[in-house]
Amino acid sequence: MKRHYDAASSPGSFCPVCHRGRLRPFFWGRDLTGTVPGEFSLVRCEICSLSLLWPIPDKRQVFSFYPDDYYQFGAKQRAKIIRRAMRVSHSWRSILPKRNYSFLGHTRLGCLLKVDLPYSPVFPFSEIVEGIDNRRILDIGCGTGEFLLAMKNMGWETWGVEPNLVAATVAKSLGLRVFHGELNEASLPAGYFQVIRLHHVLEHIYNPVETMREIHRLLSKEGRLIVTVPNIGGMGFKIFGRFWWGLDLPRHIFHYSPGSLSTLAEETGFRIVRIFHHGSKSILVRSLSLAISRKKSWQRIVRRLPPVQLVGNILQWLGKISRRSEEFTAFLRRLPLPETVGQSGSDR
Ligand SMILES: [Zn+2]
Repeated sequence: MKRHYDAASSPGSFCPVCHRGRLRPFFWGRDLTGTVPGEFSLVRCEICSLSLLWPIPDKRQVFSFYPDDYYQFGAKQRAKIIRRAMRVSHSWRSILPKRNYSFLGHTRLGCLLKVDLPYSPVFPFSEIVEGIDNRRILDIGCGTGEFLLAMKNMGWETWGVEPNLVAATVAKSLGLRVFHGELNEASLPAGYFQVIRLHHVLEHIYNPVETMREIHRLLSKEGRLIVTVPNIGGMGFKIFGRFWWGLDLPRHIFHYSPGSLSTLAEETGFRIVRIFHHGSKSILVRSLSLAISRKKSWQRIVRRLPPVQLVGNILQWLGKISRRSEEFTAFLRRLPLPETVGQSGSDR
């Protein structure tokens, strides 16, 4: 089998995030979708335990990893579901007495009655955005724009950046303001956004330090960043190994855990305030079906089987309570940039 990258070439290289640890060979894996044949190597930093594809592919290579229909599937259907859910949620809120419903916590009903619909029921979005006056949000890697559409319907000024042409076109067709391209090409105004979201994006980015510094520039002084990533330090990778769906090689270049994300945050002027270990049943069920069968048709059947769904539910719950879920969301606050990071000009 063709090996795309040679992890043996990494000794002597330092971690691109903490710059202190050396990179050591860690893992070999395949593209579980079968899009790119061959094997890919991961290395891991001996200090901050950040894992990454090695060598880091360049921009042109990264684009070749994505099938044309990566974002297309079901996009319009999902947009329709979001619109319908928004209508239901709005009509409930208009009928019920005005109160915060915090006693309902993060249950599905609680999320619908507050403003948590885009994250329902795993993430307390209303808590994160509490006290924000200018409600301007940027969704980096906004895909086909369902999240932005929900936010726009809630009165937010929404902006999106999306490098995939098909996805960006669908998002624009929903009436959203979306820049097709990469973040550093978008020339967005400094200090303009109160909230920036990276939902399953950071792991795809080949230059996370540069991206985080640009996000730091774009956020207002009290800006908030919401990052959702698969957790390579979680139970899912330990159990399923090379069948763990969260690897998504070679499209996932950097593989984070709460610890390595915290290092990236510190290096780029952020602090993690809270981590939500909500997990992902979808990642678990897909991993389980991959471990059971190599055939795609079988995997589709296996994923629907009630015992497999049950195992997915149990593992997701175990990940949540042990705080080692296979996916987590981090809420980060923007800090003044440290001198050593070398940002030019005054900090906003
Ligand atoms: Zn490191």
